[in-house]
Amino acid sequence: MHIEQLPQVESHYCRSSSSREYLDTDLSISKLYDMYVKWCEERGAEVVRKHIYTSIFNQEYNTRISFVKPKKDRCDMCEKFRLKGKEKSLNEEDRQLYHAHRVAVENSRVEKKKDKETEDVIISFDLEKALTLPKADISNSFYKRKLSCYNLTGHLHKDKTAYCCLWTEAMCGRKGNDIPSAIVKILKNIVIEHPSTKRIILWSDSCIPQNKNSIMSLALKTFMESHPFVESIIQKFSEKGHSCVQEVDYIHSCIEKALKPSEVFSPLGLVRHLKKMRRHGKVIVIQMRRDDFFFIFRVLQNI
Ligand SMILES: [Zn+2]
Repeated sequence: MHIEQLPQVESHYCRSSSSREYLDTDLSISKLYDMYVKWCEERGAEVVRKHIYTSIFNQEYNTRISFVKPKKDRCDMCEKFRLKGKEKSLNEEDRQLYHAHRVAVENSRVEKKKDKETEDVIISFDLEKALTLPKADISNSFYKRKLSCYNLTGHLHKDKTAYCCLWTEAMCGRKGNDIPSAIVKILKNIVIEHPSTKRIILWSDSCIPQNKNSIMSLALKTFMESHPFVESIIQKFSEKGHSCVQEVDYIHSCIEKALKPSEVFSPLGLVRHLKKMRRHGKVIVIQMRRDDFFFIFRVLQNI
């Protein structure tokens, strides 16, 4: 079957426990049908009508293959509470858990607001969904395995600068070792531009494999050792399921807008598009080099 010729792209979010496979986000059922017609013509095979193709896709494939990206900001706890409420099956324990969850969400919002009023250097960061290249409306490219590019975005509250740290899967992945390496790279850039930096507060979501782990702590400690004028780095996390890094989410939506009408064939093309992105505040694009990924963290990760 034609659809099975198409390679799946990676599921984007570390929180996602979904086993669904995702097709390139540039595809739609109409585009898929057009490609199917061309595919059949090339093979002299009979073409079924679009409504039959759609119904086969919905019945046989839609349960495991999807165009839709998983929602990053859907909160399991809130969703569970909402559904149980609908079924009228809420008990006292559920209510207490939900109340504690909402209090924690509000606390992290207030905490971040308070941080922004201090003189500390506040940086919010998050990894963008994987960007796949080439990005072009050429049907042949949909049959090829695409190159995943990763972008860790940092937002500096002080002057609203966006730091986009880029690398490809050919260099590294997006595991516990890779995110701290990119964060340290962003921090190095920030302290060069802001040499009076003393206290840093990092805000991120509470994804354990990427942000909330001992490799990250070690990376930050190592950074502080080599930059002794930095007195402290405090990591703070959003409550699970509720992003507290909306500034970064906004930068990612600017990137999406900038890339939507464009064709991008290489990581260098991606750098060019990111530099031209429209937003208030500067955009600094950092290309990771192989030696920016710390070997010591790689060793620790394998223990
Ligand atoms: Zn929630």
